[in-house]
Amino acid sequence: MKTISTVAEMREISSRARSLKQTIGFVPTMGFLHDGHLSLIRSARSCCDLLVVSIFVNRTQFGPNEDFDSYPRDLSRDLELCRINKADLVFHPPQEDMYFDDYSVFVEETRLSRGLCGAARPGHFKGVTSVVCKLFNIIQPDFAVFGQKDAQQVRVIDRMVRDLNIPVEIRTAPIVREPDGLAMSSRNTYLSPEERSQALCLSKTISLAEKLHSGGELRASTIESAMRELIESYSMAQIDYVEIVDSGSLEPVEKIEAPTLVAIAVRIGSTRLIDNTVLGDS
Ligand code: AMP
Repeated sequence: MKTISTVAEMREISSRARSLKQTIGFVPTMGFLHDGHLSLIRSARSCCDLLVVSIFVNRTQFGPNEDFDSYPRDLSRDLELCRINKADLVFHPPQEDMYFDDYSVFVEETRLSRGLCGAARPGHFKGVTSVVCKLFNIIQPDFAVFGQKDAQQVRVIDRMVRDLNIPVEIRTAPIVREPDGLAMSSRNTYLSPEERSQALCLSKTISLAEKLHSGGELRASTIESAMRELIESYSMAQIDYVEIVDSGSLEPVEKIEAPTLVAIAVRIGSTRLIDNTVLGDS
């Protein structure tokens, strides 16, 4: 496995692979890898000749008061995990190679990124779409794999490649959870033992929505109220949002008739966590 830290070298390798008609698979990450990330790497591995994993904590997707500086990083461990999971290349560029001092061009999705996490984190998706677009241009993958854990992110990226005619197929991999149900996240490391146990309210709330729906409940407002009530019963949990939206348009729905995304963001202490499920998707 090779580690590449310059845009120029990465472009050269990608161009060579493309001229040899090799299939390039790509898994973008911000590092501090866990089994959720590794599931994306494993799912891509058998479908490509050249598997590229990027590890880049992208400053432009963090708000001014967010955790860019404290975001967990452990490059040597990440490289070992990528090697064990048979990535061919890890692209790990320094900030200054990705962003010139006078950097001034951004890619912005203007519809799907307005609600949910976009409402709570202004500018976040603009940072995400911009960096993913740059990474697609540099790596030139045939396909890229994203986690359903960040459901809105996948929808936004999907829209970006559609609307800008970017020739990359977007694939989605399911949410990987800890044995007790908590969705894996690099940010789980911020949780104290007490917060870690309170954080279970997210997966329990998602399970509650699934249970109500499979019991025949189709009214979004009823499911949402029950979800809010459960989260509020946890003393350290603060709801950022509980949303029940059409899985394609991300617009709120009243009844669960088509595939519907049930998404939540909850603060446990100062850590903001997200989780989701899709209901009505046969
Ligand atoms: P991040 O490093 O948080 O930017 O995540 C990189 C990729 O891993 C994104 O596509 C995430 O959706 C995905 N991911 C993160 N956590 C999980 C998880 N628990 N299960 C599946 N995919 C995940």
